[in-house]
Amino acid sequence: MLLSVPLSALNRVGQSTAQHLKKLGLETVQDLLLYFPFRYDDFSQSTPINQVMVGQNVSINGVIELIQNKRSSRQKRQLTEALVSDNTGTIKVVWFNQPFIAQNLKAGDRVSLAGKTAENYGQLSLVAPQYEKAGDEQLIHTQGLVPVYSLSSNLTQKQIRFLIKQSLAAATKIEEWLPEDIRKKLKLLSINEAIIQAHFPKNLEEAKQARQRLGFDELFLRQLRSQILKQELQNKPAPKVLFQEMLTRKFVSQLPFNLTAGQKNAAWEILQDIDKNSPMSRLLEGDVGSGKTVVATMALFNVAINKYQGALMAPTEILASQHYTSLSKLLIPFNTKLALLTGSQAEANFELPKKKDDRRQKIINEAEIIIGTQALIQNYTIPRLALVIVDEQHRFGVKQRQKLQQSGELWPHFLSMTATPIPRSLALAIYGDLDISLIKELPKNRKTIITKIISEDNRQQAYDFIAQKVNLGQQAFVICPLVNESDKLGVKSATTEYKHLKNDIFPQLNIGLVHGRLKSADKEKVMKDFAEGKINILVATAVVEVGVDVPNASVMLIEGAERFGLAQLHQFRGRVGRGSEQSYCLLLASQDNQSQKTALRLQALSKYNDGLSLAKMDLHLRGAGDLYGLVQSGFPELKIASLFDHELIKKAQITASELIKNDPELDKHPLIKERLIKNDTNETHLE
Ligand code: ADP
Ligand code: MG
Repeated sequence: MLLSVPLSALNRVGQSTAQHLKKLGLETVQDLLLYFPFRYDDFSQSTPINQVMVGQNVSINGVIELIQNKRSSRQKRQLTEALVSDNTGTIKVVWFNQPFIAQNLKAGDRVSLAGKTAENYGQLSLVAPQYEKAGDEQLIHTQGLVPVYSLSSNLTQKQIRFLIKQSLAAATKIEEWLPEDIRKKLKLLSINEAIIQAHFPKNLEEAKQARQRLGFDELFLRQLRSQILKQELQNKPAPKVLFQEMLTRKFVSQLPFNLTAGQKNAAWEILQDIDKNSPMSRLLEGDVGSGKTVVATMALFNVAINKYQGALMAPTEILASQHYTSLSKLLIPFNTKLALLTGSQAEANFELPKKKDDRRQKIINEAEIIIGTQALIQNYTIPRLALVIVDEQHRFGVKQRQKLQQSGELWPHFLSMTATPIPRSLALAIYGDLDISLIKELPKNRKTIITKIISEDNRQQAYDFIAQKVNLGQQAFVICPLVNESDKLGVKSATTEYKHLKNDIFPQLNIGLVHGRLKSADKEKVMKDFAEGKINILVATAVVEVGVDVPNASVMLIEGAERFGLAQLHQFRGRVGRGSEQSYCLLLASQDNQSQKTALRLQALSKYNDGLSLAKMDLHLRGAGDLYGLVQSGFPELKIASLFDHELIKKAQITASELIKNDPELDKHPLIKERLIKNDTNETHLE
């Protein structure tokens, strides 16, 4: 089988499946082979039925005694029920809305089942497990380490495993690009072995080896790219932004608070850096609420006084307009020309023409500070651009940066701001081309947020608590996992919750609703009303996650907390505790589908307040079967490698710098060069 074979040519891939695969970026056999699982379910030990307990992931081998379809009258869904026995006992198995299973499996069949157990109506059962008939084929869905891929709802794990299994032979055709001597020295698997072992490892050790190799590839390429870029940038011309000491002092003195030492330090480093003829590349890292915005503002302010232009890019429209509001306030005494530019907005604190295109053009030409969403700003050439600041956005590649170059020859200075908690040494290793400023402490007036896990039984108490805080003039967030009621999971939807709170619980209060499906003007209005205190309680989905700043909000209630990842919960929580009031975060977690890990995760959140401890805890809790879980852990920039794998990072760094020293143009390593170019274009892809 060739690597270029289109997936539609594979056994059991029809037109619609091919379409769904394409949406995941999977078009050829090669794509499929390089689509790695994000974790494994460990079914390497099959459990005797009499030892199965509630809430476990288990693998069972047994014989079907009985299987039948039923219609459950209350819930209007098709039920398939089976009884499966081994020589120790019998267990009930249920599937929902998959009546065909009763055709596939017959009484007397020997089966392997893998899935989660639960208690239904007092009876222990295995719910919607993966199943395989035990035959002579190698079992891939229910035995050993079973890979789990990130998929859209139109594809099943079973399907993708089947396809990958079919394609695996082609892995030998994937070209090895890492030089033999490097591989030998670092004891890394060949690329072929790594691919095979990543998908179907025989044991955890094999999975680990595969991850080492693939993770090394990722880190090594990243290092190479960073180091090459750093060299190149050193020789590029950049606008010199003279440090305006007097005005900067004046700006600082009129702030309603004193800067923390970390803020001062960071601002100093940045202002020094942009006062040079070569472009700054800097990462400003500070935990949620550490006050990065005001530091950014100081830099932008200096740019404006120097008659250059600065751009601040946010990942969402809500954040952009919030930045616009807060910067406008901070800069009132200085008459700085500020503008907001997003898909739906073009506003400024100076006069603009009526026509949309004219407005935008005038902003681009005249605003001294332009705040907007990333994609938008990138579509314009800003004539005197001297500084670009990117907020909470990890995927900002070299190519994107190049595009922002001034129409002339000058490269703008670049600052990336993040709350992702990475220790300095690691950050240096991973963002090799960036210098780093760290804000270590939170402003002094902050009280530690008190985080409590509460059960459904105490819901009313939580509401009473919120009411009490609102009566004191404070505000609250209620975070819900999904926009629409998702019947099967019983997840509280934001819309339903909003109506419920408004009509039944807090009829005397003003309740607001914001979610990703609102039009941006509506979102805008709700956020503004909330910021101005017109709304007491804001019901929201994950859209509030990043950066929203309403200091008067002191309580956050998170519904279905067990459904969110730790990094995300930490980001949510960072929305409160921004003012001087004691703040609270209440985690409402449903007990039903709570695994022990979930419980530990939530406990970690109530114990630790800083992102770094939480990130470590998160990784720890993921455990060995979960090696590829970084996508969900809040570090979207690396797919495979672990940010806490010091050793691998170090190796990648050293290997890269040795390679570049001996072969600066990579002429002796054409395969590596090719990979770098390929990856570079990938990087320009924006979500
Ligand atoms: P983040 O680093 O998460 O982006 P922000 O810049 O949004 O944090 O700041 C959070 C809040 O803290 C804002 O309301 C801001 O005005 C306030 N703040 C910033 N610096 C200080 C400080 N030194 N002392 C007190 N409050 C501050
Ligand atoms: Mg921020």
